[in-house]
Amino acid sequence: MKKVAALYICTGKYERLWPGFLESAEKYLLKSCEVHYFVFTDVPHLAGEDENPRIHRIYQEPMPWPYTTLLRFEIFLKIEAQLKEFDYIYFFNANCEFKVPVTEEMLLPRPEKHEHMVFVLHPAFYWRPNYEFTYDRNPRCKAYIPMGMGRDYVCGGINGGERDAYLKFCHTLQKRIQQDRDRGIIALWHDESHINWYAFTHPHYRLLDASYCFFPGWKTVKPCIIYIRPKENYFDVDTFKKDPPKTQLPPRVEKYNEFMFKVSRKIQRHIPWLPRRKRE
Ligand code: UDP
Repeated sequence: MKKVAALYICTGKYERLWPGFLESAEKYLLKSCEVHYFVFTDVPHLAGEDENPRIHRIYQEPMPWPYTTLLRFEIFLKIEAQLKEFDYIYFFNANCEFKVPVTEEMLLPRPEKHEHMVFVLHPAFYWRPNYEFTYDRNPRCKAYIPMGMGRDYVCGGINGGERDAYLKFCHTLQKRIQQDRDRGIIALWHDESHINWYAFTHPHYRLLDASYCFFPGWKTVKPCIIYIRPKENYFDVDTFKKDPPKTQLPPRVEKYNEFMFKVSRKIQRHIPWLPRRKRE
């Protein structure tokens, strides 16, 4: 039986999202595998931990926004030795809820197709041209992707892969995020920007469609596989996300990006042989 580590962070009020995640994961997530939950939290007790030996609580100090999410790779690597005992490692945002059975065939990478990692298309971007993607556009940032480049915009909230590939991904991004921090830089969408850089530079991943990151109110005919619960129903998000530290782009970089946006739009509209994403 395959062993899967599900990484989950819930510091502060995010702990309110844990019972719903656990209940749905126990019902639907990879039922043919042995799934262990590694929960990074500051609460002294988690729902289900007394009865379920596959729940492992790891103390995690709460940090101001956006550091808990930005520094997630550093957080995961604290238990690298434990993670090495698993075949696959997946991360799920705290507000994920599984709505239907998620099988191995649906979620795991397919090595026969040279896939070792899995990312999920972001529901707000999969149908847009790449110059509209909100990649980091600061050339000094380690998550930078030039305007007009990049195939997919993936979400930060769900990703995974084979153990070694996933640990390599964590090490690479942890190092790059630290290099940014040493220079006082924070990527535009934090971990998500770095994850997109990784997908851009390591393109042989399994790409799941946005049904695996189904936002409330998303108008689509697609089935909902992983539902992203609105956090506002659980706590007041805006109070602690107010005025986060941000990196301002110098005006000349803003100008250059505006220019390259127009160039990319022109090229991609008028040159029919350029590969474009089909609207799903
Ligand atoms: N998170 C946390 N405590 C916090 C902030 C974030 O545990 O105070 C974790 C949690 O796992 C959450 C993830 O970081 O799902 C990403 O944060 P959030 O969902 O708010 O970001 P979004 O996906 O909405 O940008």
